[in-house]
Amino acid sequence: MTKAPDDKPKYIIPQTGYFAHDPDRPQPPIVTPGVAQSAPSDATVLFDGKDLSAWRGSKQDEPTWKVEDGYMEVVPKTGGIVTREEFGDIQLHLEFASPAEVQGQGQGRGNSGVFMMGTYEIQVLDNFENPTYPDGTVGAIYSQWPPLVNGIRKPGEWNTYDVLWEVPLFEGPKLLKPAFITVLFNGIVIHNHTQILGPTVIGTGDLPCYKAHPPVGPISLQDHGNPVRFRNIWVRRIGAYDLV
Ligand code: MG
Repeated sequence: MTKAPDDKPKYIIPQTGYFAHDPDRPQPPIVTPGVAQSAPSDATVLFDGKDLSAWRGSKQDEPTWKVEDGYMEVVPKTGGIVTREEFGDIQLHLEFASPAEVQGQGQGRGNSGVFMMGTYEIQVLDNFENPTYPDGTVGAIYSQWPPLVNGIRKPGEWNTYDVLWEVPLFEGPKLLKPAFITVLFNGIVIHNHTQILGPTVIGTGDLPCYKAHPPVGPISLQDHGNPVRFRNIWVRRIGAYDLV
């Protein structure tokens, strides 16, 4: 117990280390919000429409994707791209557009993916009037969880992902805490603090099974053979309360 300024006894809340309305608690840092989905002031911008300097290629150092008119586009069969920087718990924003010229069906139409820590895929797919197996639908935690809803826009139109990512924690080879993910797709919740079951398994037959890895990792975008476009990509590291 401690005495508050008005001399009434107040109790420190053990979980926070402060009493309610404690004036000595650090002020939350002020952040200027972005305008119309542009990056907030404390974000790490990974793609601002101009260049791929924040990225390397998955097959070679120089990324191979095309940059024009404020977006980047997959150059099919040249490999994915991977952030040069690595991240732990983050808020990620990115936008993607399926090819305006519709080709293929099912998994063959506008396929790409966002791999958290290079390992856990959020599916990117053109599912506008194009159903596929549910856990491979756009927004799915691929091979594990379908999106709660399919809120995709028409081919060629821009979609947004806003992702909250909580890293898995390991002690040696042992999993202490699985990863959790929250995803908004075009502003609609499609995963709400959903447990990731393990690394993404491509195909069927194998169960997802965690393998220990460092607490930080890159974000990678997939080349699945379709000219999917991306723009406006930024991340914010999620910190702890009361850090100053
Ligand atoms: Mg994919």
